[in-house]
Amino acid sequence: MALRKLVAGNWKMHGLSSDLDQVRAIAAESRDYPNVDVALCVPAILIERAARTVPGFAIGGQDVHHSGKGAHTGCISALMLLDAGASLTIVGHSERRDAQRESNEEVKAKAETALSVGLDVILCLGESLEVRESGGAVDTVAAQLDGSLPDSLGGEAGLAIAYEPIWAIGTGTIPTVAEIGEMHAAIRRKLVERYGEDGATVRILYGGSVKASNAGEIFAITDVDGALVGGASLKAADFIPIVAAAAAAVEG
Ligand code: PEP
Repeated sequence: MALRKLVAGNWKMHGLSSDLDQVRAIAAESRDYPNVDVALCVPAILIERAARTVPGFAIGGQDVHHSGKGAHTGCISALMLLDAGASLTIVGHSERRDAQRESNEEVKAKAETALSVGLDVILCLGESLEVRESGGAVDTVAAQLDGSLPDSLGGEAGLAIAYEPIWAIGTGTIPTVAEIGEMHAAIRRKLVERYGEDGATVRILYGGSVKASNAGEIFAITDVDGALVGGASLKAADFIPIVAAAAAAVEG
């Protein structure tokens, strides 16, 4: 089943007030591609301003705390994201799994908390280069899914998975078409095993060095339902051609 594609940008720790112009340009130019869902996950401190700047366009967070509220200095709750105008959040990005030592259990709790307040969730997973080279990529990602998938899905299309091989993030190197296809098929099987028919409706995004020049090839792969884009999402001139490639893939 072909799902509506989602192209989400992850600005990471980039973006000041002056970059709201890019948010504005991306939201405006995305309107030319109504058959693709487009979102930008900006730094937390920009969410409210971005959401006010482009009402109706999907603005997201890059992380959320697993608790609803409490004594967690410096952390941001799911309700705070929603209150600031976010409609989605990333959880489990490899940079957080690594630098903040986030476990699968914590990522699962974050996803469940976010879904419970009505935020859509992009749950990230992916293997290291060492694991890829040792032939263990599919098993490793399957284990991450087992540990970090929420027990039940949120509302319709609330959850998306982003397969992001760590070695492809920000490096300009991407897996082969066959490697992406194999991994996305394995993720789809797991999702259906876990959620039954609903598992077929969870979008599986590819992430890692997606740019205009490789997006068409990636979007043509079965079970690639969109992309999570880092560096190439910072400027409309780089990001919109990726959205256009998603639209072209949908149109066939
Ligand atoms: C990311 O970190 O989510 C990502 C996909 O980064 P990049 O596109 O820059 O590789």
